[in-house]
Amino acid sequence: MDCRKCGACCIAPSITTPIPNMPHGKPAGARCANLNDRNECTLYGQTARPAFCAGWQPLPEVCGQSFSEAMTRITTLEQATA
Ligand code: SF4
Repeated sequence: MDCRKCGACCIAPSITTPIPNMPHGKPAGARCANLNDRNECTLYGQTARPAFCAGWQPLPEVCGQSFSEAMTRITTLEQATA
């Protein structure tokens, strides 16, 4: 599937390492400071983009049919691996 750029994978998961503009990492459920108003990563294609982020791929079982479904599924994954 193609990424629908809903931003859920840049909001739902926590990032435990420092990332640009978020020196203490990103709490689960917080909108990443590097996400613009169109839900595009402003670091995309740059070496500064965290490796964690590059690991996310659009998958039906993760993304579901909507932003809301993706948030629910990623939050569940987050809690299962915490
Ligand atoms: S750094 Fe970019 S890809 Fe990673 S969570 Fe933030 S906006 Fe998303």
